[in-house]
Amino acid sequence: MQTVALGAGVAALLLVGLVGPNGSMARAQAQSADTGNPLAVVMRGLCKADEIFALAIHGGAVFARSDHGPKAAIVQQSLTEARAVLASGARAIDVVEAVIAGMENSGVFNAGKGAIANKAGVVEMDASIMEGRLHKAGAVASVKAVRNPISAARLVMDETRHVMMVGPDADKFVRENSGAVADVSYFHYGGQNFSDVPLPDDIRIMPPDEDIAKNKAAFSGAWAGVWVGISLKHVLVVEKIEPHGAKVVHAYGPNPSFGEGLHRRFTAIFVGGGLQVTEPSDLGGFITTYRLNPDDTLTATAAKKNSAEVYETTFRRLADLSVGDEGGTVGAVVRDRCGDLAAGTSTGGFGSKTPGRVGDSPIIGAGTYADNKTAAISATGHGELFMRHVVAYAITAAMKYKGLSLEKAATGLIKHELPPKGLRGGVIAVDRDGNVTMPYNTEGMVRGTTSNDLAPVVEVY
Ligand code: ASP
Repeated sequence: MQTVALGAGVAALLLVGLVGPNGSMARAQAQSADTGNPLAVVMRGLCKADEIFALAIHGGAVFARSDHGPKAAIVQQSLTEARAVLASGARAIDVVEAVIAGMENSGVFNAGKGAIANKAGVVEMDASIMEGRLHKAGAVASVKAVRNPISAARLVMDETRHVMMVGPDADKFVRENSGAVADVSYFHYGGQNFSDVPLPDDIRIMPPDEDIAKNKAAFSGAWAGVWVGISLKHVLVVEKIEPHGAKVVHAYGPNPSFGEGLHRRFTAIFVGGGLQVTEPSDLGGFITTYRLNPDDTLTATAAKKNSAEVYETTFRRLADLSVGDEGGTVGAVVRDRCGDLAAGTSTGGFGSKTPGRVGDSPIIGAGTYADNKTAAISATGHGELFMRHVVAYAITAAMKYKGLSLEKAATGLIKHELPPKGLRGGVIAVDRDGNVTMPYNTEGMVRGTTSNDLAPVVEVY
């Protein structure tokens, strides 16, 4: 399945970059206005001016050690396929788009099909792309229905006078211009609209201790549903499992009888294989019992103390709210055989993000930047810090104004200057001569590189 997805990505690359269907003509015409020479654009499609080309890909910063084998395998495959088309003269911008689109389609990364949900269980994706010759750039943020956010960013770059489009209007723009949209069911974590259920900002699901029985450990996570009878949207987050109980967050959607934005933390106990929460009397005095079903749904029964009132309903599991700490953002940077640089980044965002939050990935200069005279950069990690320190641009500025090499500029910021300020993450970068560097300050970063004289190399730690 992964091979098919990537194969489709490279096939698209061949069509757009080398064969030149209508889409690439439109792009060629759009660019000719800037270059003044449509032939130059077509020649750029062949792009064999010199021997050197180089590519680096990342599959996200890694915050804790775990199995990143499936991600690494896709990075390896992407490098191998992209190396072949780059050798044939594919353009940097086309390779960036195709590689990232293939990773989005794989469903293995936190981008496109596999994008994680925000804290409310809704997939909101960000992406950007930039080329270094004319400094043209495109970006989308908080899109929910776009199949390939990186291609949506390319569409904004090629077909509009703008750099960034956001939210439902960006979804609509893509629907009307390329049709490459998808129903929520396409996304692994889609179809869960609990955005109006309030959750505290500090939710963090802790892995249960090893000696805690499996059936209890399975309670760790988050579920959402509607209480039948009172139509109350409700999210249950089991934050931390302990031998005899669990730390639980109950969050209730807006409901006149409960007030707006209500959430409470409780300690629950295990009773007869289920989880029992005794709610304090200010919430109506319910004892709620949760039972896990074999299909991973959760049946909840709420019985009012000293009363015959009983509510029962079934909740479905929400995306694991802690998953974002595992990263999985994707990015690519390329130097092609014409000496053109390009960069792109795509993500579902940082774990447990608040609905509406936008990170660095779609921000030109923060998460993505390309300048033919210096370097092309794609970042991954805690986006807020990358935005505040304008990291991707700062690396190129250090090269331009301080005369530093790419290696010194990128390593200096990522490993020395910015960690004391709280920055956690890494970048992949390629300079005008095809030199590649991939510094990070987290536990690891899924990453790989290849060039005209280097076979693909992939590493995580
Ligand atoms: N930088 C991304 C963001 O903050 C997340 C990541 O790269 O892991 O949205």
